[in-house]
Amino acid sequence: MKESIYGLTFDQLTEWLLERGHKKFRASQVWDWLYKKRVKEFSQMNNVNKDCIKLLEENFAIQTLTQEIKQESSDGTIKFLFKLQDGNVIETVLMRFHYGQSVCVTTQVGCNIGCSFCASGLLKKSRDLTSGEIVEQIMNVQHALDEKANEERVSHIVIMGIGEPFDNYDNMMDFLRIVNSQKGLCIGARHITVSTSGLAKQIYDFANEDLQVNLAISLHAPNDELRTKIMKINKAYPLGKLMPAIDYYLEKTNRRITFEYIMLRDVNDHVEEAKQLANLLADKRHLSYVNLIPYNPVDDHSYQRSEKESILAFYDTLKKNGINCVIRHENGTDIDAACGQLRSKQVKKLENAGK
Ligand code: SAH
Ligand code: SF4
Repeated sequence: MKESIYGLTFDQLTEWLLERGHKKFRASQVWDWLYKKRVKEFSQMNNVNKDCIKLLEENFAIQTLTQEIKQESSDGTIKFLFKLQDGNVIETVLMRFHYGQSVCVTTQVGCNIGCSFCASGLLKKSRDLTSGEIVEQIMNVQHALDEKANEERVSHIVIMGIGEPFDNYDNMMDFLRIVNSQKGLCIGARHITVSTSGLAKQIYDFANEDLQVNLAISLHAPNDELRTKIMKINKAYPLGKLMPAIDYYLEKTNRRITFEYIMLRDVNDHVEEAKQLANLLADKRHLSYVNLIPYNPVDDHSYQRSEKESILAFYDTLKKNGINCVIRHENGTDIDAACGQLRSKQVKKLENAGK
């Protein structure tokens, strides 16, 4: 199996070509064909000499993902299911907003964090995605937009698909550098958000990176007892470890952080929990906001979505206590757009077919 050409940063490709006797400017040409002209075959790079094309073809693949399913929702959301070279399937979602086109990418095949409410956590991680496989998700969506010929481009990225990005840290960082590069897709760091279930160690590492990428923390509960109940990662990284990592991040970057909070009926959606949450975040309320997320029911979980009134009461309590807060608008609910849902259905179908 050849590795994806999209997995190399510009510097890595330059060095790779130099080591094989090719001129430095070839890397710029190749990147221009990949990311600006967006060709799908090396042979189309017609200002690159034959030897260089041959070398690239022998060592790299330009398409390692194949599209299995593409579902378009009435609100414009498009959901893609891709097959990887090893047969695993992953999903990617394009969401359309007034401010641009946002893509939700997957970073792992499955997820080992195993949160009790999540479809991705139902299926153990079988492997990390390579940086190339993560970049290719964006390229596939961009190619789909190119086909529509409306001059639309992917302008925003959320790393909120299947997997825990901080459990695949190095590949995720390469991915960020590649899509952010001026020579490539040039997607602004401020337009990219990475979401983590709270791996404290990597939050420190991320704070020390020289990047303006936004950080979101999946908090979902304001105290250890409840958080451990719904997210077992809280045993390894309880609030006593997580919050100091967040404080370090805020101090180091001075960037606003998002706290995600899924509203689970009668589990974490009482006014009492809203008060606790306001207390927990009181000292960082100027550099944070809370995103209240309506729960997307998953077949094998018993949780239910909170009532509208509970969500509003929760919201009001946070607001009254000076916490910035929004209720997330949902996209593509008619097509299983909650990350992990299409894939888990597909994997189950395949498993049943094999029985
Ligand atoms: N592993 C990372 C990123 C992927 S999950 C993380 O957990 O942050 C992205 C977001 O979707 C997280 O906030 C996660 O808690 C949320 N999520 C997972 N399952 C969901 C569901 N069924 N309904 C609504 N949100 C869900
Ligand atoms: Fe993994 Fe995130 Fe799902 Fe938790 S919510 S199981 S960390 S993908």
